[in-house]
This record gives sequence, structure tokens and C-alpha cells, in this order.
Amino acid sequence: VLSADVIQKLKNIVGDDGIFDRTEDLLAPAAEVEDAGPQVDVRVSPKTADEVARVLAVASEHGVPVVPRGSGTGPSGSSAAREGDIVLSTARMNRILSISAEDLIAVVQPGVEMEEFRRTVEEAGLFYPPDASSERPSTIGGSVGESTSGLRALKYGGTRKYVMGMKIALPTGERIQTGARTLKCVTGYDLARLFIGSLGTLGVCTEVYLKLLPLPETRVVTVAIFDRARDAAEASMRILDRGIVPSALEMMDRTTLQALLRTGDQPFPEDAGTLLLIETDGLPGAAGRQAVEAGEICHSSGARDVRKAQTSHAAEAFWNARRSALAALCRARPATVMEEVRVPRSRVADLVGSLMALVEIEAAGMALLGHVGEGRLHPTIPVHLSDPSDVSRVRRIVGKISQEVLSLGGRFGPERGVGLGDVSFLDERPSAEGMDLVKRLKDAFDPKGIMNPGARL
Ligand SMILES: Cc1cc2nc3c(=O)[nH]c(=O)nc-3n(C[C@H](O)[C@H](O)[C@H](O)COP(=O)(O)OP(=O)(O)OC[C@H]3O[C@@H](n4cnc5c(N)ncnc54)[C@H](O)[C@@H]3O)c2cc1C
Repeated sequence: VLSADVIQKLKNIVGDDGIFDRTEDLLAPAAEVEDAGPQVDVRVSPKTADEVARVLAVASEHGVPVVPRGSGTGPSGSSAAREGDIVLSTARMNRILSISAEDLIAVVQPGVEMEEFRRTVEEAGLFYPPDASSERPSTIGGSVGESTSGLRALKYGGTRKYVMGMKIALPTGERIQTGARTLKCVTGYDLARLFIGSLGTLGVCTEVYLKLLPLPETRVVTVAIFDRARDAAEASMRILDRGIVPSALEMMDRTTLQALLRTGDQPFPEDAGTLLLIETDGLPGAAGRQAVEAGEICHSSGARDVRKAQTSHAAEAFWNARRSALAALCRARPATVMEEVRVPRSRVADLVGSLMALVEIEAAGMALLGHVGEGRLHPTIPVHLSDPSDVSRVRRIVGKISQEVLSLGGRFGPERGVGLGDVSFLDERPSAEGMDLVKRLKDAFDPKGIMNPGARL
């Protein structure tokens, strides 16, 4: 529990209105409540980089852990705090500082919400591609902390590709700037890259320089409905084989679609088996032609219905369904285990086929959705956490999935840090020597080990 002395020092920095130390003021991510035991004591909400650095200095002096937090939506619970931690919220550092159409650069504070940023940038005729498929608000700082990718990563890549530089406050009290506002910057170590995906374990980013693109002139959304998930995955492979790189190529299986239907009206028919969502973008002629070709491929791969979203409103209805899918699955279940599997693109139909077989054999309720074009999918399995035999069942299924993925030359485990999650099935942990180097790097940034100690990278 934080001492009154530490709380007073924090109040002196952020003011009475920048600190919340009553339980009802503390907005905890779900994972904090379920997994991390008691509620946190104190959330501080600095307004400036200087205040962030001073909060970190106080925490360092007293050896108090600090958990940076944007919106707290990270599925791995990586911004969940424990009793006695300080939650450092970026909620009041939420300004878009500049958007330059000439330089194709935006400078933003970490607490800016992704959705607001995306909208503002598009109003200026520009485009910021990383778009995590979450219906809940998330922040730029959180996307840097988690190195997110999202719906349009197939064509455009993820956050790593767009962060040109940033300002960082370190727990040592230092403030550094890394990277630059120019497209090329090759001097010295690329500390910004190291920071991206570091789950708030190295410091707090206080300003981010983001690369922008011109907004594509057209986006065409095509929807294909299949009876079998494997056919949808086959079609996605054939679309890419044809040399078409859609800006998004997403799949939702029957269980996912049924969960969405239970939440209200949806733009797809009630008996849809698997839905493939294909977005092509660019110059109107080219994007339209690619959409037609992709649709033909879906037909010849067994789609029972292929249609183009006729209006942007209709297209948005499909994207909203995709964004709400995970939440719909969670709502329909006692608790949900969501895994991430990645296989080489050419094996994605085999993966979908074998996971669907697994669903039939034993994984009642498992749903499959995700970025099929990237060979990256999320099997999600319902679980009763209070029932040990059900937990064992799910662990067994997860083990089978991980074996299947490895046998297809793929990878099992999160695309980003593990957060508070289960590391036992991971196969990507670095060697002992690699881990030692990681520890030494962490020590250089955070010698007292106060930055988000609960999160595992
Ligand atoms: C339904 C759903 C679907 C999703 N789908 C995708 C997807 O398809 N692809 C994808 O990539 N992601 C996906 N995500 C993950 C999503 O992108 C993250 O939840 C989001 O980016 C986290 O943002 P946040 O503001 O909530 O961050 P938080 O959860 O608050 O923080 C995330 C991490 O970043 C750290 N952090 C936050 N701010 C800072 C800062 N200023 N400096 C240093 N560290 C900081 C935190 O300590 C924590 O470790 C999905 C999430 C949900 C809920």
C-alpha cells in the first residue's frame, strides 16, 4: 500500500485533480479484476512530459512499481496493476499536436484515442493504416506499448512501420528523444524500435511521431459467404496467389457469426457458415477490378454468395461486425481463452481444416476468426474458470492447437508481449543467452525494475 508521503509527493506534481486514490475512481481493465487480485491504490494522470518524468522519479526513489496505461484494453492484461502499484494514466495527454500533409507526419501525445486519430487524419485526406480490430477505445501509447498491427496489416504493416520516433521519460528521471521527423534516420541504435512492443517495461512514451500515407481514393468491400471455413481459407490463399493484395482479408467462422447475431441485427444472413471480408483499395479502376477478381475466386472456391457493399454505410456495417466479434464471443460465454496462431500463408487452409476438425472432435464452442490473409488467426475457447476439469480440458485443447501449428511450420503465442498470460505453450522464448541480454537491456533503462514488473515480454 502506498504511503501518505508518496501520495502527497505525487499530488504535488499532478495536482489534486490528477490523482485518483479511491476505488470508485479507478477504472480497472477486466484482467485486473479477474487475474491480478486486489484493486490498485493510486492512478496518476500527468498532463506533461515533465510531470511524467517527475512521477517516475518519485516512484524510483521509493521503489514503487509503475504501470503505464492508455485505455486498459490490451487483451493480455499488460496494463493491469497490482496492489501498491502506481497506475500512470495517459488520459490527460490526449492532444494531436500536429498533422502535416506536406511531410506526411503526425505528432501526437500518447493518450490520443486511435479512433479519433484515424478520423482526424482522414478528414485531412491522409491515412494511418494500423487499425486494431477492437470496438473499444484504445490509445496511440497502448498501440506502441503492444506493437499492434490489426486489420490492414496485410498490405500496410503494423505500428512498427509507422513510428518514426518518440520522446520517452525513463524511470531514471532522464528524458530522451529517439528517431526523427524525417523518413530516413540511421544514426545510432534505433531505440524507438526497441521501445515498440515493450509493454511499458522500459519507460513511458510522452510524444510519438507517426508516418502517414495519402488516403486511398477508393475502398471496395466485398463479402463472401461460405458453408465451410476451409473453403474460405482456400479462397484467401488463391486471391493472394493471383497477385491481389487486399488492404484487409478477414475471416469469421459460424460460431463467431452466431455470437454476433445474438447481440442484434447483423448485415449477414442468419445461416451464414463462414464470412470472408475482402477490402481492396487504391485508384478506383484498379481497386474495383481486384474486387471483381477476388469475388470470382471466392465463387470458384465454393462461396454460396458474393456481394459488394454498395455504400460506405453498408461496408461499415461489416467492419463493425468484425470489430465487435471478440466482444460478442466474450459476452456469450462465462470466460474466453483467446490464442493467436500464425502459419506460413500457404498452410492457412490446412490450419483452418485441422482446427475445424478439432472443433468437431472435442472443442465445443471454439470459434475461429482473424487475419486469414496473413495466416494469423485467433481460436477462442469458452471456459468455466471456476471448474478445474474445464480448465484442464481447455489446456489440453490449447496444447493440441499448438502442436498442430508447429507441425505446419507456424508459431503459437501472442504477436506481442505475453502480458500476464500463460507462457507454458510458447515456443518463441529466446535462448538463455538471449534472455540474459534482454535483462541487461532492461537494467540499462530501468535499473530499479519499477516499470510494469508484472508484464512478461
Ligand atoms: C476486441 C479486441 C480486438 C483486438 N484486435 C487486435 C488486432 O487485430 N491486432 C492487434 O494488433 N491488436 C488487437 N487488439 C489489441 C489492441 O490493439 C490493444 O488492446 C490496444 O492497442 C491497447 O491500447 P490501450 O490504450 O488500451 O493500451 P493499454 O492496454 O492501456 O496498454 C497496453 C500496453 O502498453 C503500455 N503502454 C500504454 N501507454 C504507454 C505509454 N505511453 N508508454 C509506454 N507504454 C505504454 C501498457 O503498460 C501496456 O503494457 C485487440 C484488442 C481488443 C480488445
